[in-house]
Amino acid sequence: MATLPRLYVDHPLATGQRVHLEPAQAHYIRTVLRLGCGASIELFNGCDGAWLGTVEPQGKRDAEVVCQQQNAPQEAAADVWLLAATLKRGRIDWVAEKACELGVARLLLVQTRRAVVDRPNLARLRAHMIEAAEQCGRTSVPELVSARALFDVLAEWPSERRLLFCDETGGAPALKALRERGPWAVLIGPEGGFDPIERERILSCPQAVGVSLGPRILRADTAAVAALSIMQATIGDWN
Ligand code: SAH
Repeated sequence: MATLPRLYVDHPLATGQRVHLEPAQAHYIRTVLRLGCGASIELFNGCDGAWLGTVEPQGKRDAEVVCQQQNAPQEAAADVWLLAATLKRGRIDWVAEKACELGVARLLLVQTRRAVVDRPNLARLRAHMIEAAEQCGRTSVPELVSARALFDVLAEWPSERRLLFCDETGGAPALKALRERGPWAVLIGPEGGFDPIERERILSCPQAVGVSLGPRILRADTAAVAALSIMQATIGDWN
């Protein structure tokens, strides 16, 4: 069975609820997919689960969707965070998309000394995550936390959350570290890696475990996906 087109909306969802689509969504439904009156689509808003709705074109360009029934309850997202150094556009977009597909609950951006970009465009990153959530069947979009200095984030790090510090200079095998129960966060450095002062500061954090992702130096985006994958496969929702 073909999966229904899915849209994220910032609107409450309940039986009989009418949702007016954003212009870009109405264009996608009416012009790109060529869906007409009564066509089925699925809506989600991050808190009410997934809802089956029917399309009602309005005027020349607009569209509303009328909620019919709940298709799926709200997911309980795996309690996994990704702490990613800011990366160049394109790479960080890819990380945001993959983090969403891999079930991350929260993406926190951190500024590090060797990062080349300081302030990524949050609206663009969020748009990538929304698109990924629509595509992969999630009923939530990861929370996106704007870039803060790594040291500030570490200073306020929650005491109960372990930090899988992916260290390109080596560490324990990541799988071994993940024998400890979570909650966990993954920390990935920038293209230029972490500098020695940062490494020392991270490792002085009692929640941090320095781990290796093997003998090859991975690009930051590859490292993020590799670390999240082994985490979901061991202690996360791939089990
Ligand atoms: N320019 C650096 C590499 C940075 S790789 C150098 O040449 O040494 C970017 C980030 O990906 C790193 O900071 C680390 O978080 C992660 N990473 C890459 N390869 C890794 C590996 N083999 N083990 C653990 N983390 C790795």
